[in-house]
Amino acid sequence: MPRRPDVPDAAEMEQRYIRLLSNFYDQIYDLDFRIDFYRSVYQSDGKFCAPPEGHGLAAMLEAAADTLIHPEDKADFQRLFQRAELRRALSSTGGSTGGEYRKKCLDGSYRWVRVMVFPFGGSGQERYLVCFQDIDVHKHVGASTRENVLLHIQSLDHLRYRAIAEQTRSMVFEWQGPALTYVDALIPRLLAGNYDGRHLFELWREDKVLFSEDRAVFENFLRSLADSEPSSAVTMRLRRRTGAFTWYVLSCTRLENNTDEPRYMCSLRDVDKAIHIARSLRQQAEYDDLTGACTMPTFLEKTGRLRHKRPDALRHIVRYDVAGFRAIDERFGQEEGRRLLRAISYLTRENLASDRELFARLSGDIFLVCLEGGSERVREFMDWLRRGVAEYANAYRPELFFGACRLDDPETPVREICERAYLALMAAKGRGLSDHAFYDDELRRRVLEEHFIKAEMYAALADGQFVPYLQPKVEIFSGRIVGAEALARWRHPERGLIPPNRFVPFFERNGFIVLLDKYIWEEVCKLLRSWLDKGYRPVPVSINVSRLHFSDNSFCEKLRALTDKYRLPRHLLELELTESAFFENEKILQQTMRDLQESGFAFSMDDFGTGYSSLNTLRALPFNTVKLDRAFVSDGTDNRRGRIVARNTITLAKQLGMKIIAEGVETVEQALFLRSLGCDHAQGFYYSRPMDARDFETFSFVRRKCFWVDPRLQETLPRPEDDVWAKK
Ligand code: C2E
Ligand code: CA
Ligand code: CA
Repeated sequence: MPRRPDVPDAAEMEQRYIRLLSNFYDQIYDLDFRIDFYRSVYQSDGKFCAPPEGHGLAAMLEAAADTLIHPEDKADFQRLFQRAELRRALSSTGGSTGGEYRKKCLDGSYRWVRVMVFPFGGSGQERYLVCFQDIDVHKHVGASTRENVLLHIQSLDHLRYRAIAEQTRSMVFEWQGPALTYVDALIPRLLAGNYDGRHLFELWREDKVLFSEDRAVFENFLRSLADSEPSSAVTMRLRRRTGAFTWYVLSCTRLENNTDEPRYMCSLRDVDKAIHIARSLRQQAEYDDLTGACTMPTFLEKTGRLRHKRPDALRHIVRYDVAGFRAIDERFGQEEGRRLLRAISYLTRENLASDRELFARLSGDIFLVCLEGGSERVREFMDWLRRGVAEYANAYRPELFFGACRLDDPETPVREICERAYLALMAAKGRGLSDHAFYDDELRRRVLEEHFIKAEMYAALADGQFVPYLQPKVEIFSGRIVGAEALARWRHPERGLIPPNRFVPFFERNGFIVLLDKYIWEEVCKLLRSWLDKGYRPVPVSINVSRLHFSDNSFCEKLRALTDKYRLPRHLLELELTESAFFENEKILQQTMRDLQESGFAFSMDDFGTGYSSLNTLRALPFNTVKLDRAFVSDGTDNRRGRIVARNTITLAKQLGMKIIAEGVETVEQALFLRSLGCDHAQGFYYSRPMDARDFETFSFVRRKCFWVDPRLQETLPRPEDDVWAKK
């Protein structure tokens, strides 16, 4: 039967099949196990080695496994070509089987090949086509994909790190054992040093990126990290490419991993700004920026440390300030005030031993020093400042006041000693005898007393322990009682009668005087009311008015309400003001006085002659009466200058239309002298000590007593007007 030309025969079919396969494969072999035969049917050019020729199939497979397949893949390769195995594999897959092996190339290298085995010929035959396909590129692509995945993970790490870095303004790096495994690109860009693969720590040391002074803390930090601290941080300075050292916090955390070499993740955070801000805040908190002196907390702390370091050294705390600094500030301007403070600071520092003595400014013009040495050291220091300040060239002569206290008992807190120096300073000012005072037993007693007063004053007021005593004011030539002054006494249930000089100055300082005064005024009003009710004709009683009342806007109203409450004619209440009240605000004072005078109250100027500007005050403020101070009276009788001043002042006050009363008249001589000057009224022990209200009432109203008058006082005397002024 002739063959139809379009129907290929089996051999031709084989050929076509092989041609098709050769498009995909590099090598194709025809294997026949039954006859132990093989032949090469296709070879791509010059890539793979061909198996040795002239052997049977089994021998060829063995030789090929030995020489052409990578030793690591040999076993797998041989397994694929075991006759029984091949049969089993093909029957279970139904089509083809195969594997991937590294096969030797002509140049001796190995390339990955995929081996595919197809049954060839009819069923039951053991003939196969074995095709080799070069897949080396794919394998490597696969490998590089794996690498890419790693790279991808790393770049994710990088992104993560960048995000951390940006959020925390820090730079990240990672290391394991001796090797750096990740370094933020910013690190070599910003920081100095040669980044040549050395560990950062090493190169920071070697290239002097690490600030030399921070080396020790850095090594400590590394030690603590090595001592299995899971995480640790250090603040240190690293040199930037710009050359500047910048503060960084380096934090390292060990990541748990199972290898022997621990892995660390570290960050570098720029804290330069924060550190500088913190430092300048500390500087501001610790030092006064005007004078560079310590602030109080720093002074206390440093003094405490000095004391701890050398407890045996004798020390003094001295507090000092400028007399009338506020006035200087107001009159010459704040710039001048500051200049003066700087000058005092400069002088102070010049005299201090900076390693063991300290200097602080509290506020305004208040200074404190801690001096090493006894009272002679304090005196030397005060002398130095006095001299320096005296040379301070200006329109005024600044004057300092000092208060000193020994820093001895280690149990007493430094703050307490400073407080005592302050009390000494106040005492110096109060006494007015010298510009300084030491805290001594007398002061100590006062301090203790103040503690007691402070603890009891409110209860005592509520309990009625404060009472007004009354001291008569007398007309000198007649002995008639023309008035009285109410003076507070504290009738303490255990301590007896306490005089006001022991509590009034303290109350002036703590403000309690306002309450006490009001209480005394009300008691005086009650007395006056009761006298009126009994039909007596009471004399005006003067009350003492602390300057603190003038900051109370409703002061006038309250006084009027008080007299109204007791239905008193207002002239019965006289208000005594001391000169200390005048400094504050003359305008307000003037206004208040006029307001009250219009309501019928009269004013006395207390302690005239003790203040700085008594004459000035006389001119400026509308007083009705001038009370000459005790010192004035004794001066007047003791020396000629005093006499001249007394005489002229009296004349002046009289010419200004004011009444005059002399305080503290203790002797007839004083009374005579005053009378000779034209002073008609007096108050003092010569006549009577202050007495309680019952005694005063009995004495002056019930018995209608008048004081006995020395005949000499009754004589008519030449008036000073005729005497001094008329002669001019
Ligand atoms: P001051 O207002 O100058 O009162 C006169 C002081 O001189 C009174 O002292 C009085 O007892 C005393 N004195 C009177 N005559 C003589 C004398 O001949 N010789 C001597 N050596 N002293 C005489 P006191 O009562 O101890 O009062 C002292 C100061 O306390 C008063 O001085 C006054 O400034 C203040 N004070 C008293 N009571 C009050 C008050 O209720 N309120 C206010 N704000 N201050 C008061
Ligand atoms: Ca008085
Ligand atoms: Ca007085």
